[in-house]
Amino acid sequence: MSDVLKIFRELEMTWDRDNIYHQVLTYIAQASELLGLPAGMELILAQPKNEITVHFPVLMDNGDYQLFRGYRVQHNNVLGPFKGGIRYHQDADLDHVKALAVLMTMKTALYWLPYGGAKGAVKVNPRSLSQNELMRLTRRFTAALGQNIGPFYDVPAPDVGTNAQIMAWITDTYTNLHDPARRLDGMGVCTGKPLLLGGSQGREKATGQGLIYVLEQMLPEMGFDIGKVSYSLIGYGNVGSWTGKLMAERGAKLTAVLDHTGAIYSDKGIDALELDKYVAQKGGVGGFPNAEAITEDQFYSAKVDVLIPAALEQMINDRNVKLLNCKIVAEAANAPTTPQAERYMVEQGIQILPAILCNSGGVTVSYFEWNQNRQAETWDLEYVDAQLKKMVLAACARTKETARRLKCDLRVASYCAALERIAKVYLIRGIFP
Ligand code: NAD
Repeated sequence: MSDVLKIFRELEMTWDRDNIYHQVLTYIAQASELLGLPAGMELILAQPKNEITVHFPVLMDNGDYQLFRGYRVQHNNVLGPFKGGIRYHQDADLDHVKALAVLMTMKTALYWLPYGGAKGAVKVNPRSLSQNELMRLTRRFTAALGQNIGPFYDVPAPDVGTNAQIMAWITDTYTNLHDPARRLDGMGVCTGKPLLLGGSQGREKATGQGLIYVLEQMLPEMGFDIGKVSYSLIGYGNVGSWTGKLMAERGAKLTAVLDHTGAIYSDKGIDALELDKYVAQKGGVGGFPNAEAITEDQFYSAKVDVLIPAALEQMINDRNVKLLNCKIVAEAANAPTTPQAERYMVEQGIQILPAILCNSGGVTVSYFEWNQNRQAETWDLEYVDAQLKKMVLAACARTKETARRLKCDLRVASYCAALERIAKVYLIRGIFP
């Protein structure tokens, strides 16, 4: 704590325990202290290289113009081009995007990907827009970002509220606005694109798939068998629904799900495929006929082996952590647990599989997509899955080895393993000039 306060004083920032960006910096400070990194290193990582805020008008279907605010935060690119998702959410703000950008730097470093970290957002509820409005907003945002994104500079991907269609509009806008002779390069401007437009096999399910590989590797050492666990999910969007479907293939029992439309429970197990179809039609899990409706508090209290948060940040917090009745929290979402909640969980013996280890399947297959685009190749699904598994197992081994060596928990170990790589590269490259 003392170290992080020193950094805050130096940056003239006021510490706020509820600010997610400040929370992420605290983890970095803790890991840096354990590694004995020079203070200058921490300082470099404590602020992003670039924080871009744009305001842009969009023509709405009713003929009016609405002004939107978008962000792209480019945290660090010492390991390679900036990389990170774009989110459409009504609560997006700069500190939130900064926190997510730092986490991207940590993920790409932990997984040894040739990328730095970035994140983008537009402050909008995408559910309130028509498809045409969503397309016009995406094209204007891409145009507003201009040269700040590019296949060799900063490569966006989907995140909360965005999907392959939105990546297709970004790619089309970008290639139309840039050198026509380099259209093939332009395809690599973002990842998570539709298959027909240079997307990769296995990208849509990649974050869920990566989590499954982590669970297969880590659960046995924690005394659990993936085929026999009961679990609950917060969120049934891209990450949550793919986790549900892939866990079902392995025989795990999904007993409770919470999303923005409500919470559901079934002692016998919820059919992940049926729920997927229902959510595609209705927009959320609320009202799913083959399970009982429960309250949010009942959801958090439900007895399960593993709780998988796969929705938004800070969802496991002071308010609900005391209700938890699980043995393991496997963090599929970014920063889903507040540090205060984490302290309580550790006291209670609840084990945590940390987010930067659990949810990097998406950025890893994004890297495969970018590689395929650069080489004008198409890899088959078996090859993508096999490569992803190899990368996940290597990251698990790195995290466990670091935890043993530094005698720390897996969260701190995952940050330390990432920071060690970044620090070594800074040492080799030196700091310009
Ligand atoms: P998504 O938009 O597809 O789904 C988000 C889910 O969160 C939805 O099910 C929604 O109902 C739920 N949700 C929203 N508000 C909620 C609330 N107040 N209470 C409960 N549930 C709520 O997003 P996603 O792509 O599945 O992302 C989920 C998480 O995983 C995010 O933290 C994201 O940053 C992270 N992540 C996503 C990817 C990816 O490839 N999509 C990769 C890495 C990490």
